Amino acid sequence: MPLILPHPLMIVPQHIPATNLLAWYQQSRRDLPWRQPNVSAWQILVSEFMLQQTPVSRVLPIWPEWVRRWPTASATAAATTADVLRAWGKLGYPRRAKRLHECATVIARDHGDVVPDDVETLLRLPGVGSYTARAVACFAYRQRVPVVDTNVRRVLARAVHGRPDAGALSSARDLADAMALLPNDEAAPSFSLALMELGATVCTARAPRCGVCPLDACAWRDAGFPAMPGPARRAQTYAGTDRQVRGRLLDVLRAKDSPVTRAELDVAWLTDCVQRDRALDSLLADGLVTRTHDGRFALAGEE
Ligand code: SF4
Repeated sequence: MPLILPHPLMIVPQHIPATNLLAWYQQSRRDLPWRQPNVSAWQILVSEFMLQQTPVSRVLPIWPEWVRRWPTASATAAATTADVLRAWGKLGYPRRAKRLHECATVIARDHGDVVPDDVETLLRLPGVGSYTARAVACFAYRQRVPVVDTNVRRVLARAVHGRPDAGALSSARDLADAMALLPNDEAAPSFSLALMELGATVCTARAPRCGVCPLDACAWRDAGFPAMPGPARRAQTYAGTDRQVRGRLLDVLRAKDSPVTRAELDVAWLTDCVQRDRALDSLLADGLVTRTHDGRFALAGEE
């Protein structure tokens, strides 16, 4: 007899009870420095900027030194853009460093050096989007707000809706899903952290470890792991992209504490000079690199 898998539309959405998840989190959470009790709201905000689209393993060497050097928003605001870009190192997406610097300036100037505690005000800060605003309100101020990152979206898709991955981004739907699961008491922030941790360490994209999962019920597992309809998604590549070229150009500038010539920049990417010019133009347009009066190049604020 042929094996008949249930159609995804026939899967009944599951609820995620808090008890098992919270108990698992207490036992199994990673000892991340930005989750320690004495970390300030500003330092949590810094960690969330760094963690956007960047794995924990790459943030771990950078964050402790960063908050030791610039423990507050005002200390960060007093640094130059070039200092901040240099300290950002190879975390990638360097526009985040510039936005973090701008965010520090606004908090120091307009908010008395205190990170706002409500989502609406947080959302008006430079570089702070829906996820980061809710993460700070939840993790720094222990508010009952849904926090939805890629890991949470994947757990919700699998455990609640019986799909292998989250599909197209739908902020409103994902927030509503997460809100519906939040416990109605002071355990809500820990529940949000636990859900993220589950997605990051157990319900991973490529190899979910269902054997150690604390959830008693999971719609996707219980339905026999049905595949996503449609063609498989292609993995993103980095090699050869404009992002890689931008990173190479910034590496040259970070390594020097004075402006460099065009020739010194050119050796960073000899494969395709049109692509190199495009990458440099975009760095200039983003305000990450500046051109000096004598035609050389430097990190922003360092001319
Ligand atoms: S049972 Fe497996 S697929 Fe379901 S939430 Fe747990 S790890 Fe993810």
